[in-house]
Amino acid sequence: MTRAIEIRTEIPGPRSREILAREREAVAHPLIVHLPVFAADAEGATITDVDGNRFIDFAGGVGVMNVGHGHPRIVEAVQEQADRFLHTDFTVVPYESYVELAERLGELAPISGPTRAAFFNAGTEAVENAVKFARLATGRQSVIAFEGAFHGRTLLSLTMTSKPHPYKTGLGPFSPEVFRAPYPNEYRGVGAAEALGQLEYMLHTHVPAEHVAAIVFEPEQGEGGFIPAPAAFVEGLRELCDRDGIVLVADEVQTGFGRTGKMFAMEHFGVEPDLITVAKSIAAGLPLSGVVGRAAIMDAAHSGAVGGTYIGNPVALAAACAVLDVIAEENLVARAQTIGETIRASMLAWQERHAQIGDVRGLGAMLAIELVHDPESKEPASELAESVIDAALARGLILLKAGVHGNCIRVLCPLTITDLELEEALEVWSEALATTLS
Ligand code: PLP
Repeated sequence: MTRAIEIRTEIPGPRSREILAREREAVAHPLIVHLPVFAADAEGATITDVDGNRFIDFAGGVGVMNVGHGHPRIVEAVQEQADRFLHTDFTVVPYESYVELAERLGELAPISGPTRAAFFNAGTEAVENAVKFARLATGRQSVIAFEGAFHGRTLLSLTMTSKPHPYKTGLGPFSPEVFRAPYPNEYRGVGAAEALGQLEYMLHTHVPAEHVAAIVFEPEQGEGGFIPAPAAFVEGLRELCDRDGIVLVADEVQTGFGRTGKMFAMEHFGVEPDLITVAKSIAAGLPLSGVVGRAAIMDAAHSGAVGGTYIGNPVALAAACAVLDVIAEENLVARAQTIGETIRASMLAWQERHAQIGDVRGLGAMLAIELVHDPESKEPASELAESVIDAALARGLILLKAGVHGNCIRVLCPLTITDLELEEALEVWSEALATTLS
């Protein structure tokens, strides 16, 4: 059988090592390079480095490549748009693709009634703008976010992000009026009822409901360790928001575009959010983000309240329209469910073999294993996660960590991965676990 992985040199190879040495001298050191191999080419579910080593990519540029690398439909759309024009600023001279994507997302988003959309670049901008829409619609200032959340790295979204190391240390003072509630984590004994109870209590002890503009949450926490929200929690948030006139924002930056086996993760719960933030896999690697939501909320902001020079670049929008075509034509939402079942079955088999795999969890193809020193104490084992990732990389599989303690290993592979590539990747992951764990 032809193998997708091809390892020709030690990892990193000589050419990657040479560039890495230059990188240390030229690039700001906080931009830590997780994998010491430099990309030369990428296609489908594989990345080839500058030494000719080919890897299977289970990171997807952190959840960006749901349609795979270099999909011909996306490349063609990008080239065609680049030939026509690169930029006008939509609010100066508008272009149709902006309107088309807003219409299509409005159709796809699990929100009934009239919707609107606005586009930006990074996920962090989508989150910050969702809060702007919520503040202007409600006339309130406060925002509630959750423990373990990741919403970005600009001031407001960084404030909402809940991992001090490495994201927040030394970077205060943070934005005012952000309050934090527990997020359910069934593996660690926090259920939906307890999390909702704490949230209600917070409305008496920290911030009154009538000051809260928005509750922002991830339907499955991403950086926080791939923790899906229990349905009862999402239903409880909806009830609370309806009762108190709060805007419910689902941050689907990592969960969106088929990753969880639904187009949007909120569809798993049958609960409508008011606003959804999108980014990452929306445009297959071109920078694009957006807010989609109820027209009444998004239209409440005054003219000019949101904007920017680059609010939806035409090349990125062309890519995004092509991404929606590819997801539909190649049935990638269903594919996420199928590959998710295969991956989960392997993970559960690994858990039988290795006591250090404390938990296997996630929706669709957004799955992770959580590594602990001991299944009883559940003490996080981040160094084991790191060793497994290193062992996998040496064998040609790119894996990424997640979790507040950095002890989870997550799956963000292209949904276009072939069955053979998937089988090969899981074999390599299994070997990496066998060499690292008892
Ligand atoms: N929200 C969520 C749920 C994310 O996972 C991320 C990034 O990982 C962001 C927001 C921030 O997106 P960006 O890095 O594009 O600013």
